Amino acid sequence: MVPPKEMNFRCIHCGFPVETLFIQYSPGNIRLMKCENCRSVADEYIECEIMILLIDLVLHKSKAYHHLLNNFPKLNGVYLELLLSSFFGILVFLCILYPACKYLQKSPRKAIRFNQVLLATLVSSYFKIVLIAMMVWQFPVTAIFIIDMFALSSNAVALKVLMQITMVESVAACIIAHSAKLLVNYIALLAI
Ligand SMILES: [Zn+2]
Repeated sequence: MVPPKEMNFRCIHCGFPVETLFIQYSPGNIRLMKCENCRSVADEYIECEIMILLIDLVLHKSKAYHHLLNNFPKLNGVYLELLLSSFFGILVFLCILYPACKYLQKSPRKAIRFNQVLLATLVSSYFKIVLIAMMVWQFPVTAIFIIDMFALSSNAVALKVLMQITMVESVAACIIAHSAKLLVNYIALLAI
């Protein structure tokens, strides 16, 4: 297929040029565009949390590098604001979770480090990769909520193992941090 002219973005699956990656109907309500060549969603990272992009970059997935190198520099304010709110949400999550972990830690000799909490959060967030499939097949919002809860519970298990605390303590710390993250994301969404 001959690529049309004046195409700025590229499909992260086949590299075919695409005119736009998404259409925004209202604040927080966007539709991802499909590639005319391979019929896949051209760039699903547009709606992904930054955590998923980071995981895929670590996993050496070429589509994540396609997104970062081809599409990311050309994206306009709307996407960057969405990405920024997601980044701040995670930052708030970690900034609340880390002191909570320090407070709950039973053994003062083995002080928990920030990078340990970050690693536990990253590893246990693998479940969120399922969200990419949901964006493609248009699952209901309740299903996304359930996946979010699974990711949260896997965060709690990772912390319980890392810190040797009870499951109740771990779940409580995760819920408080997650609530703060949701609040930041909500406020950012209203501001965009
Ligand atoms: Zn394609």
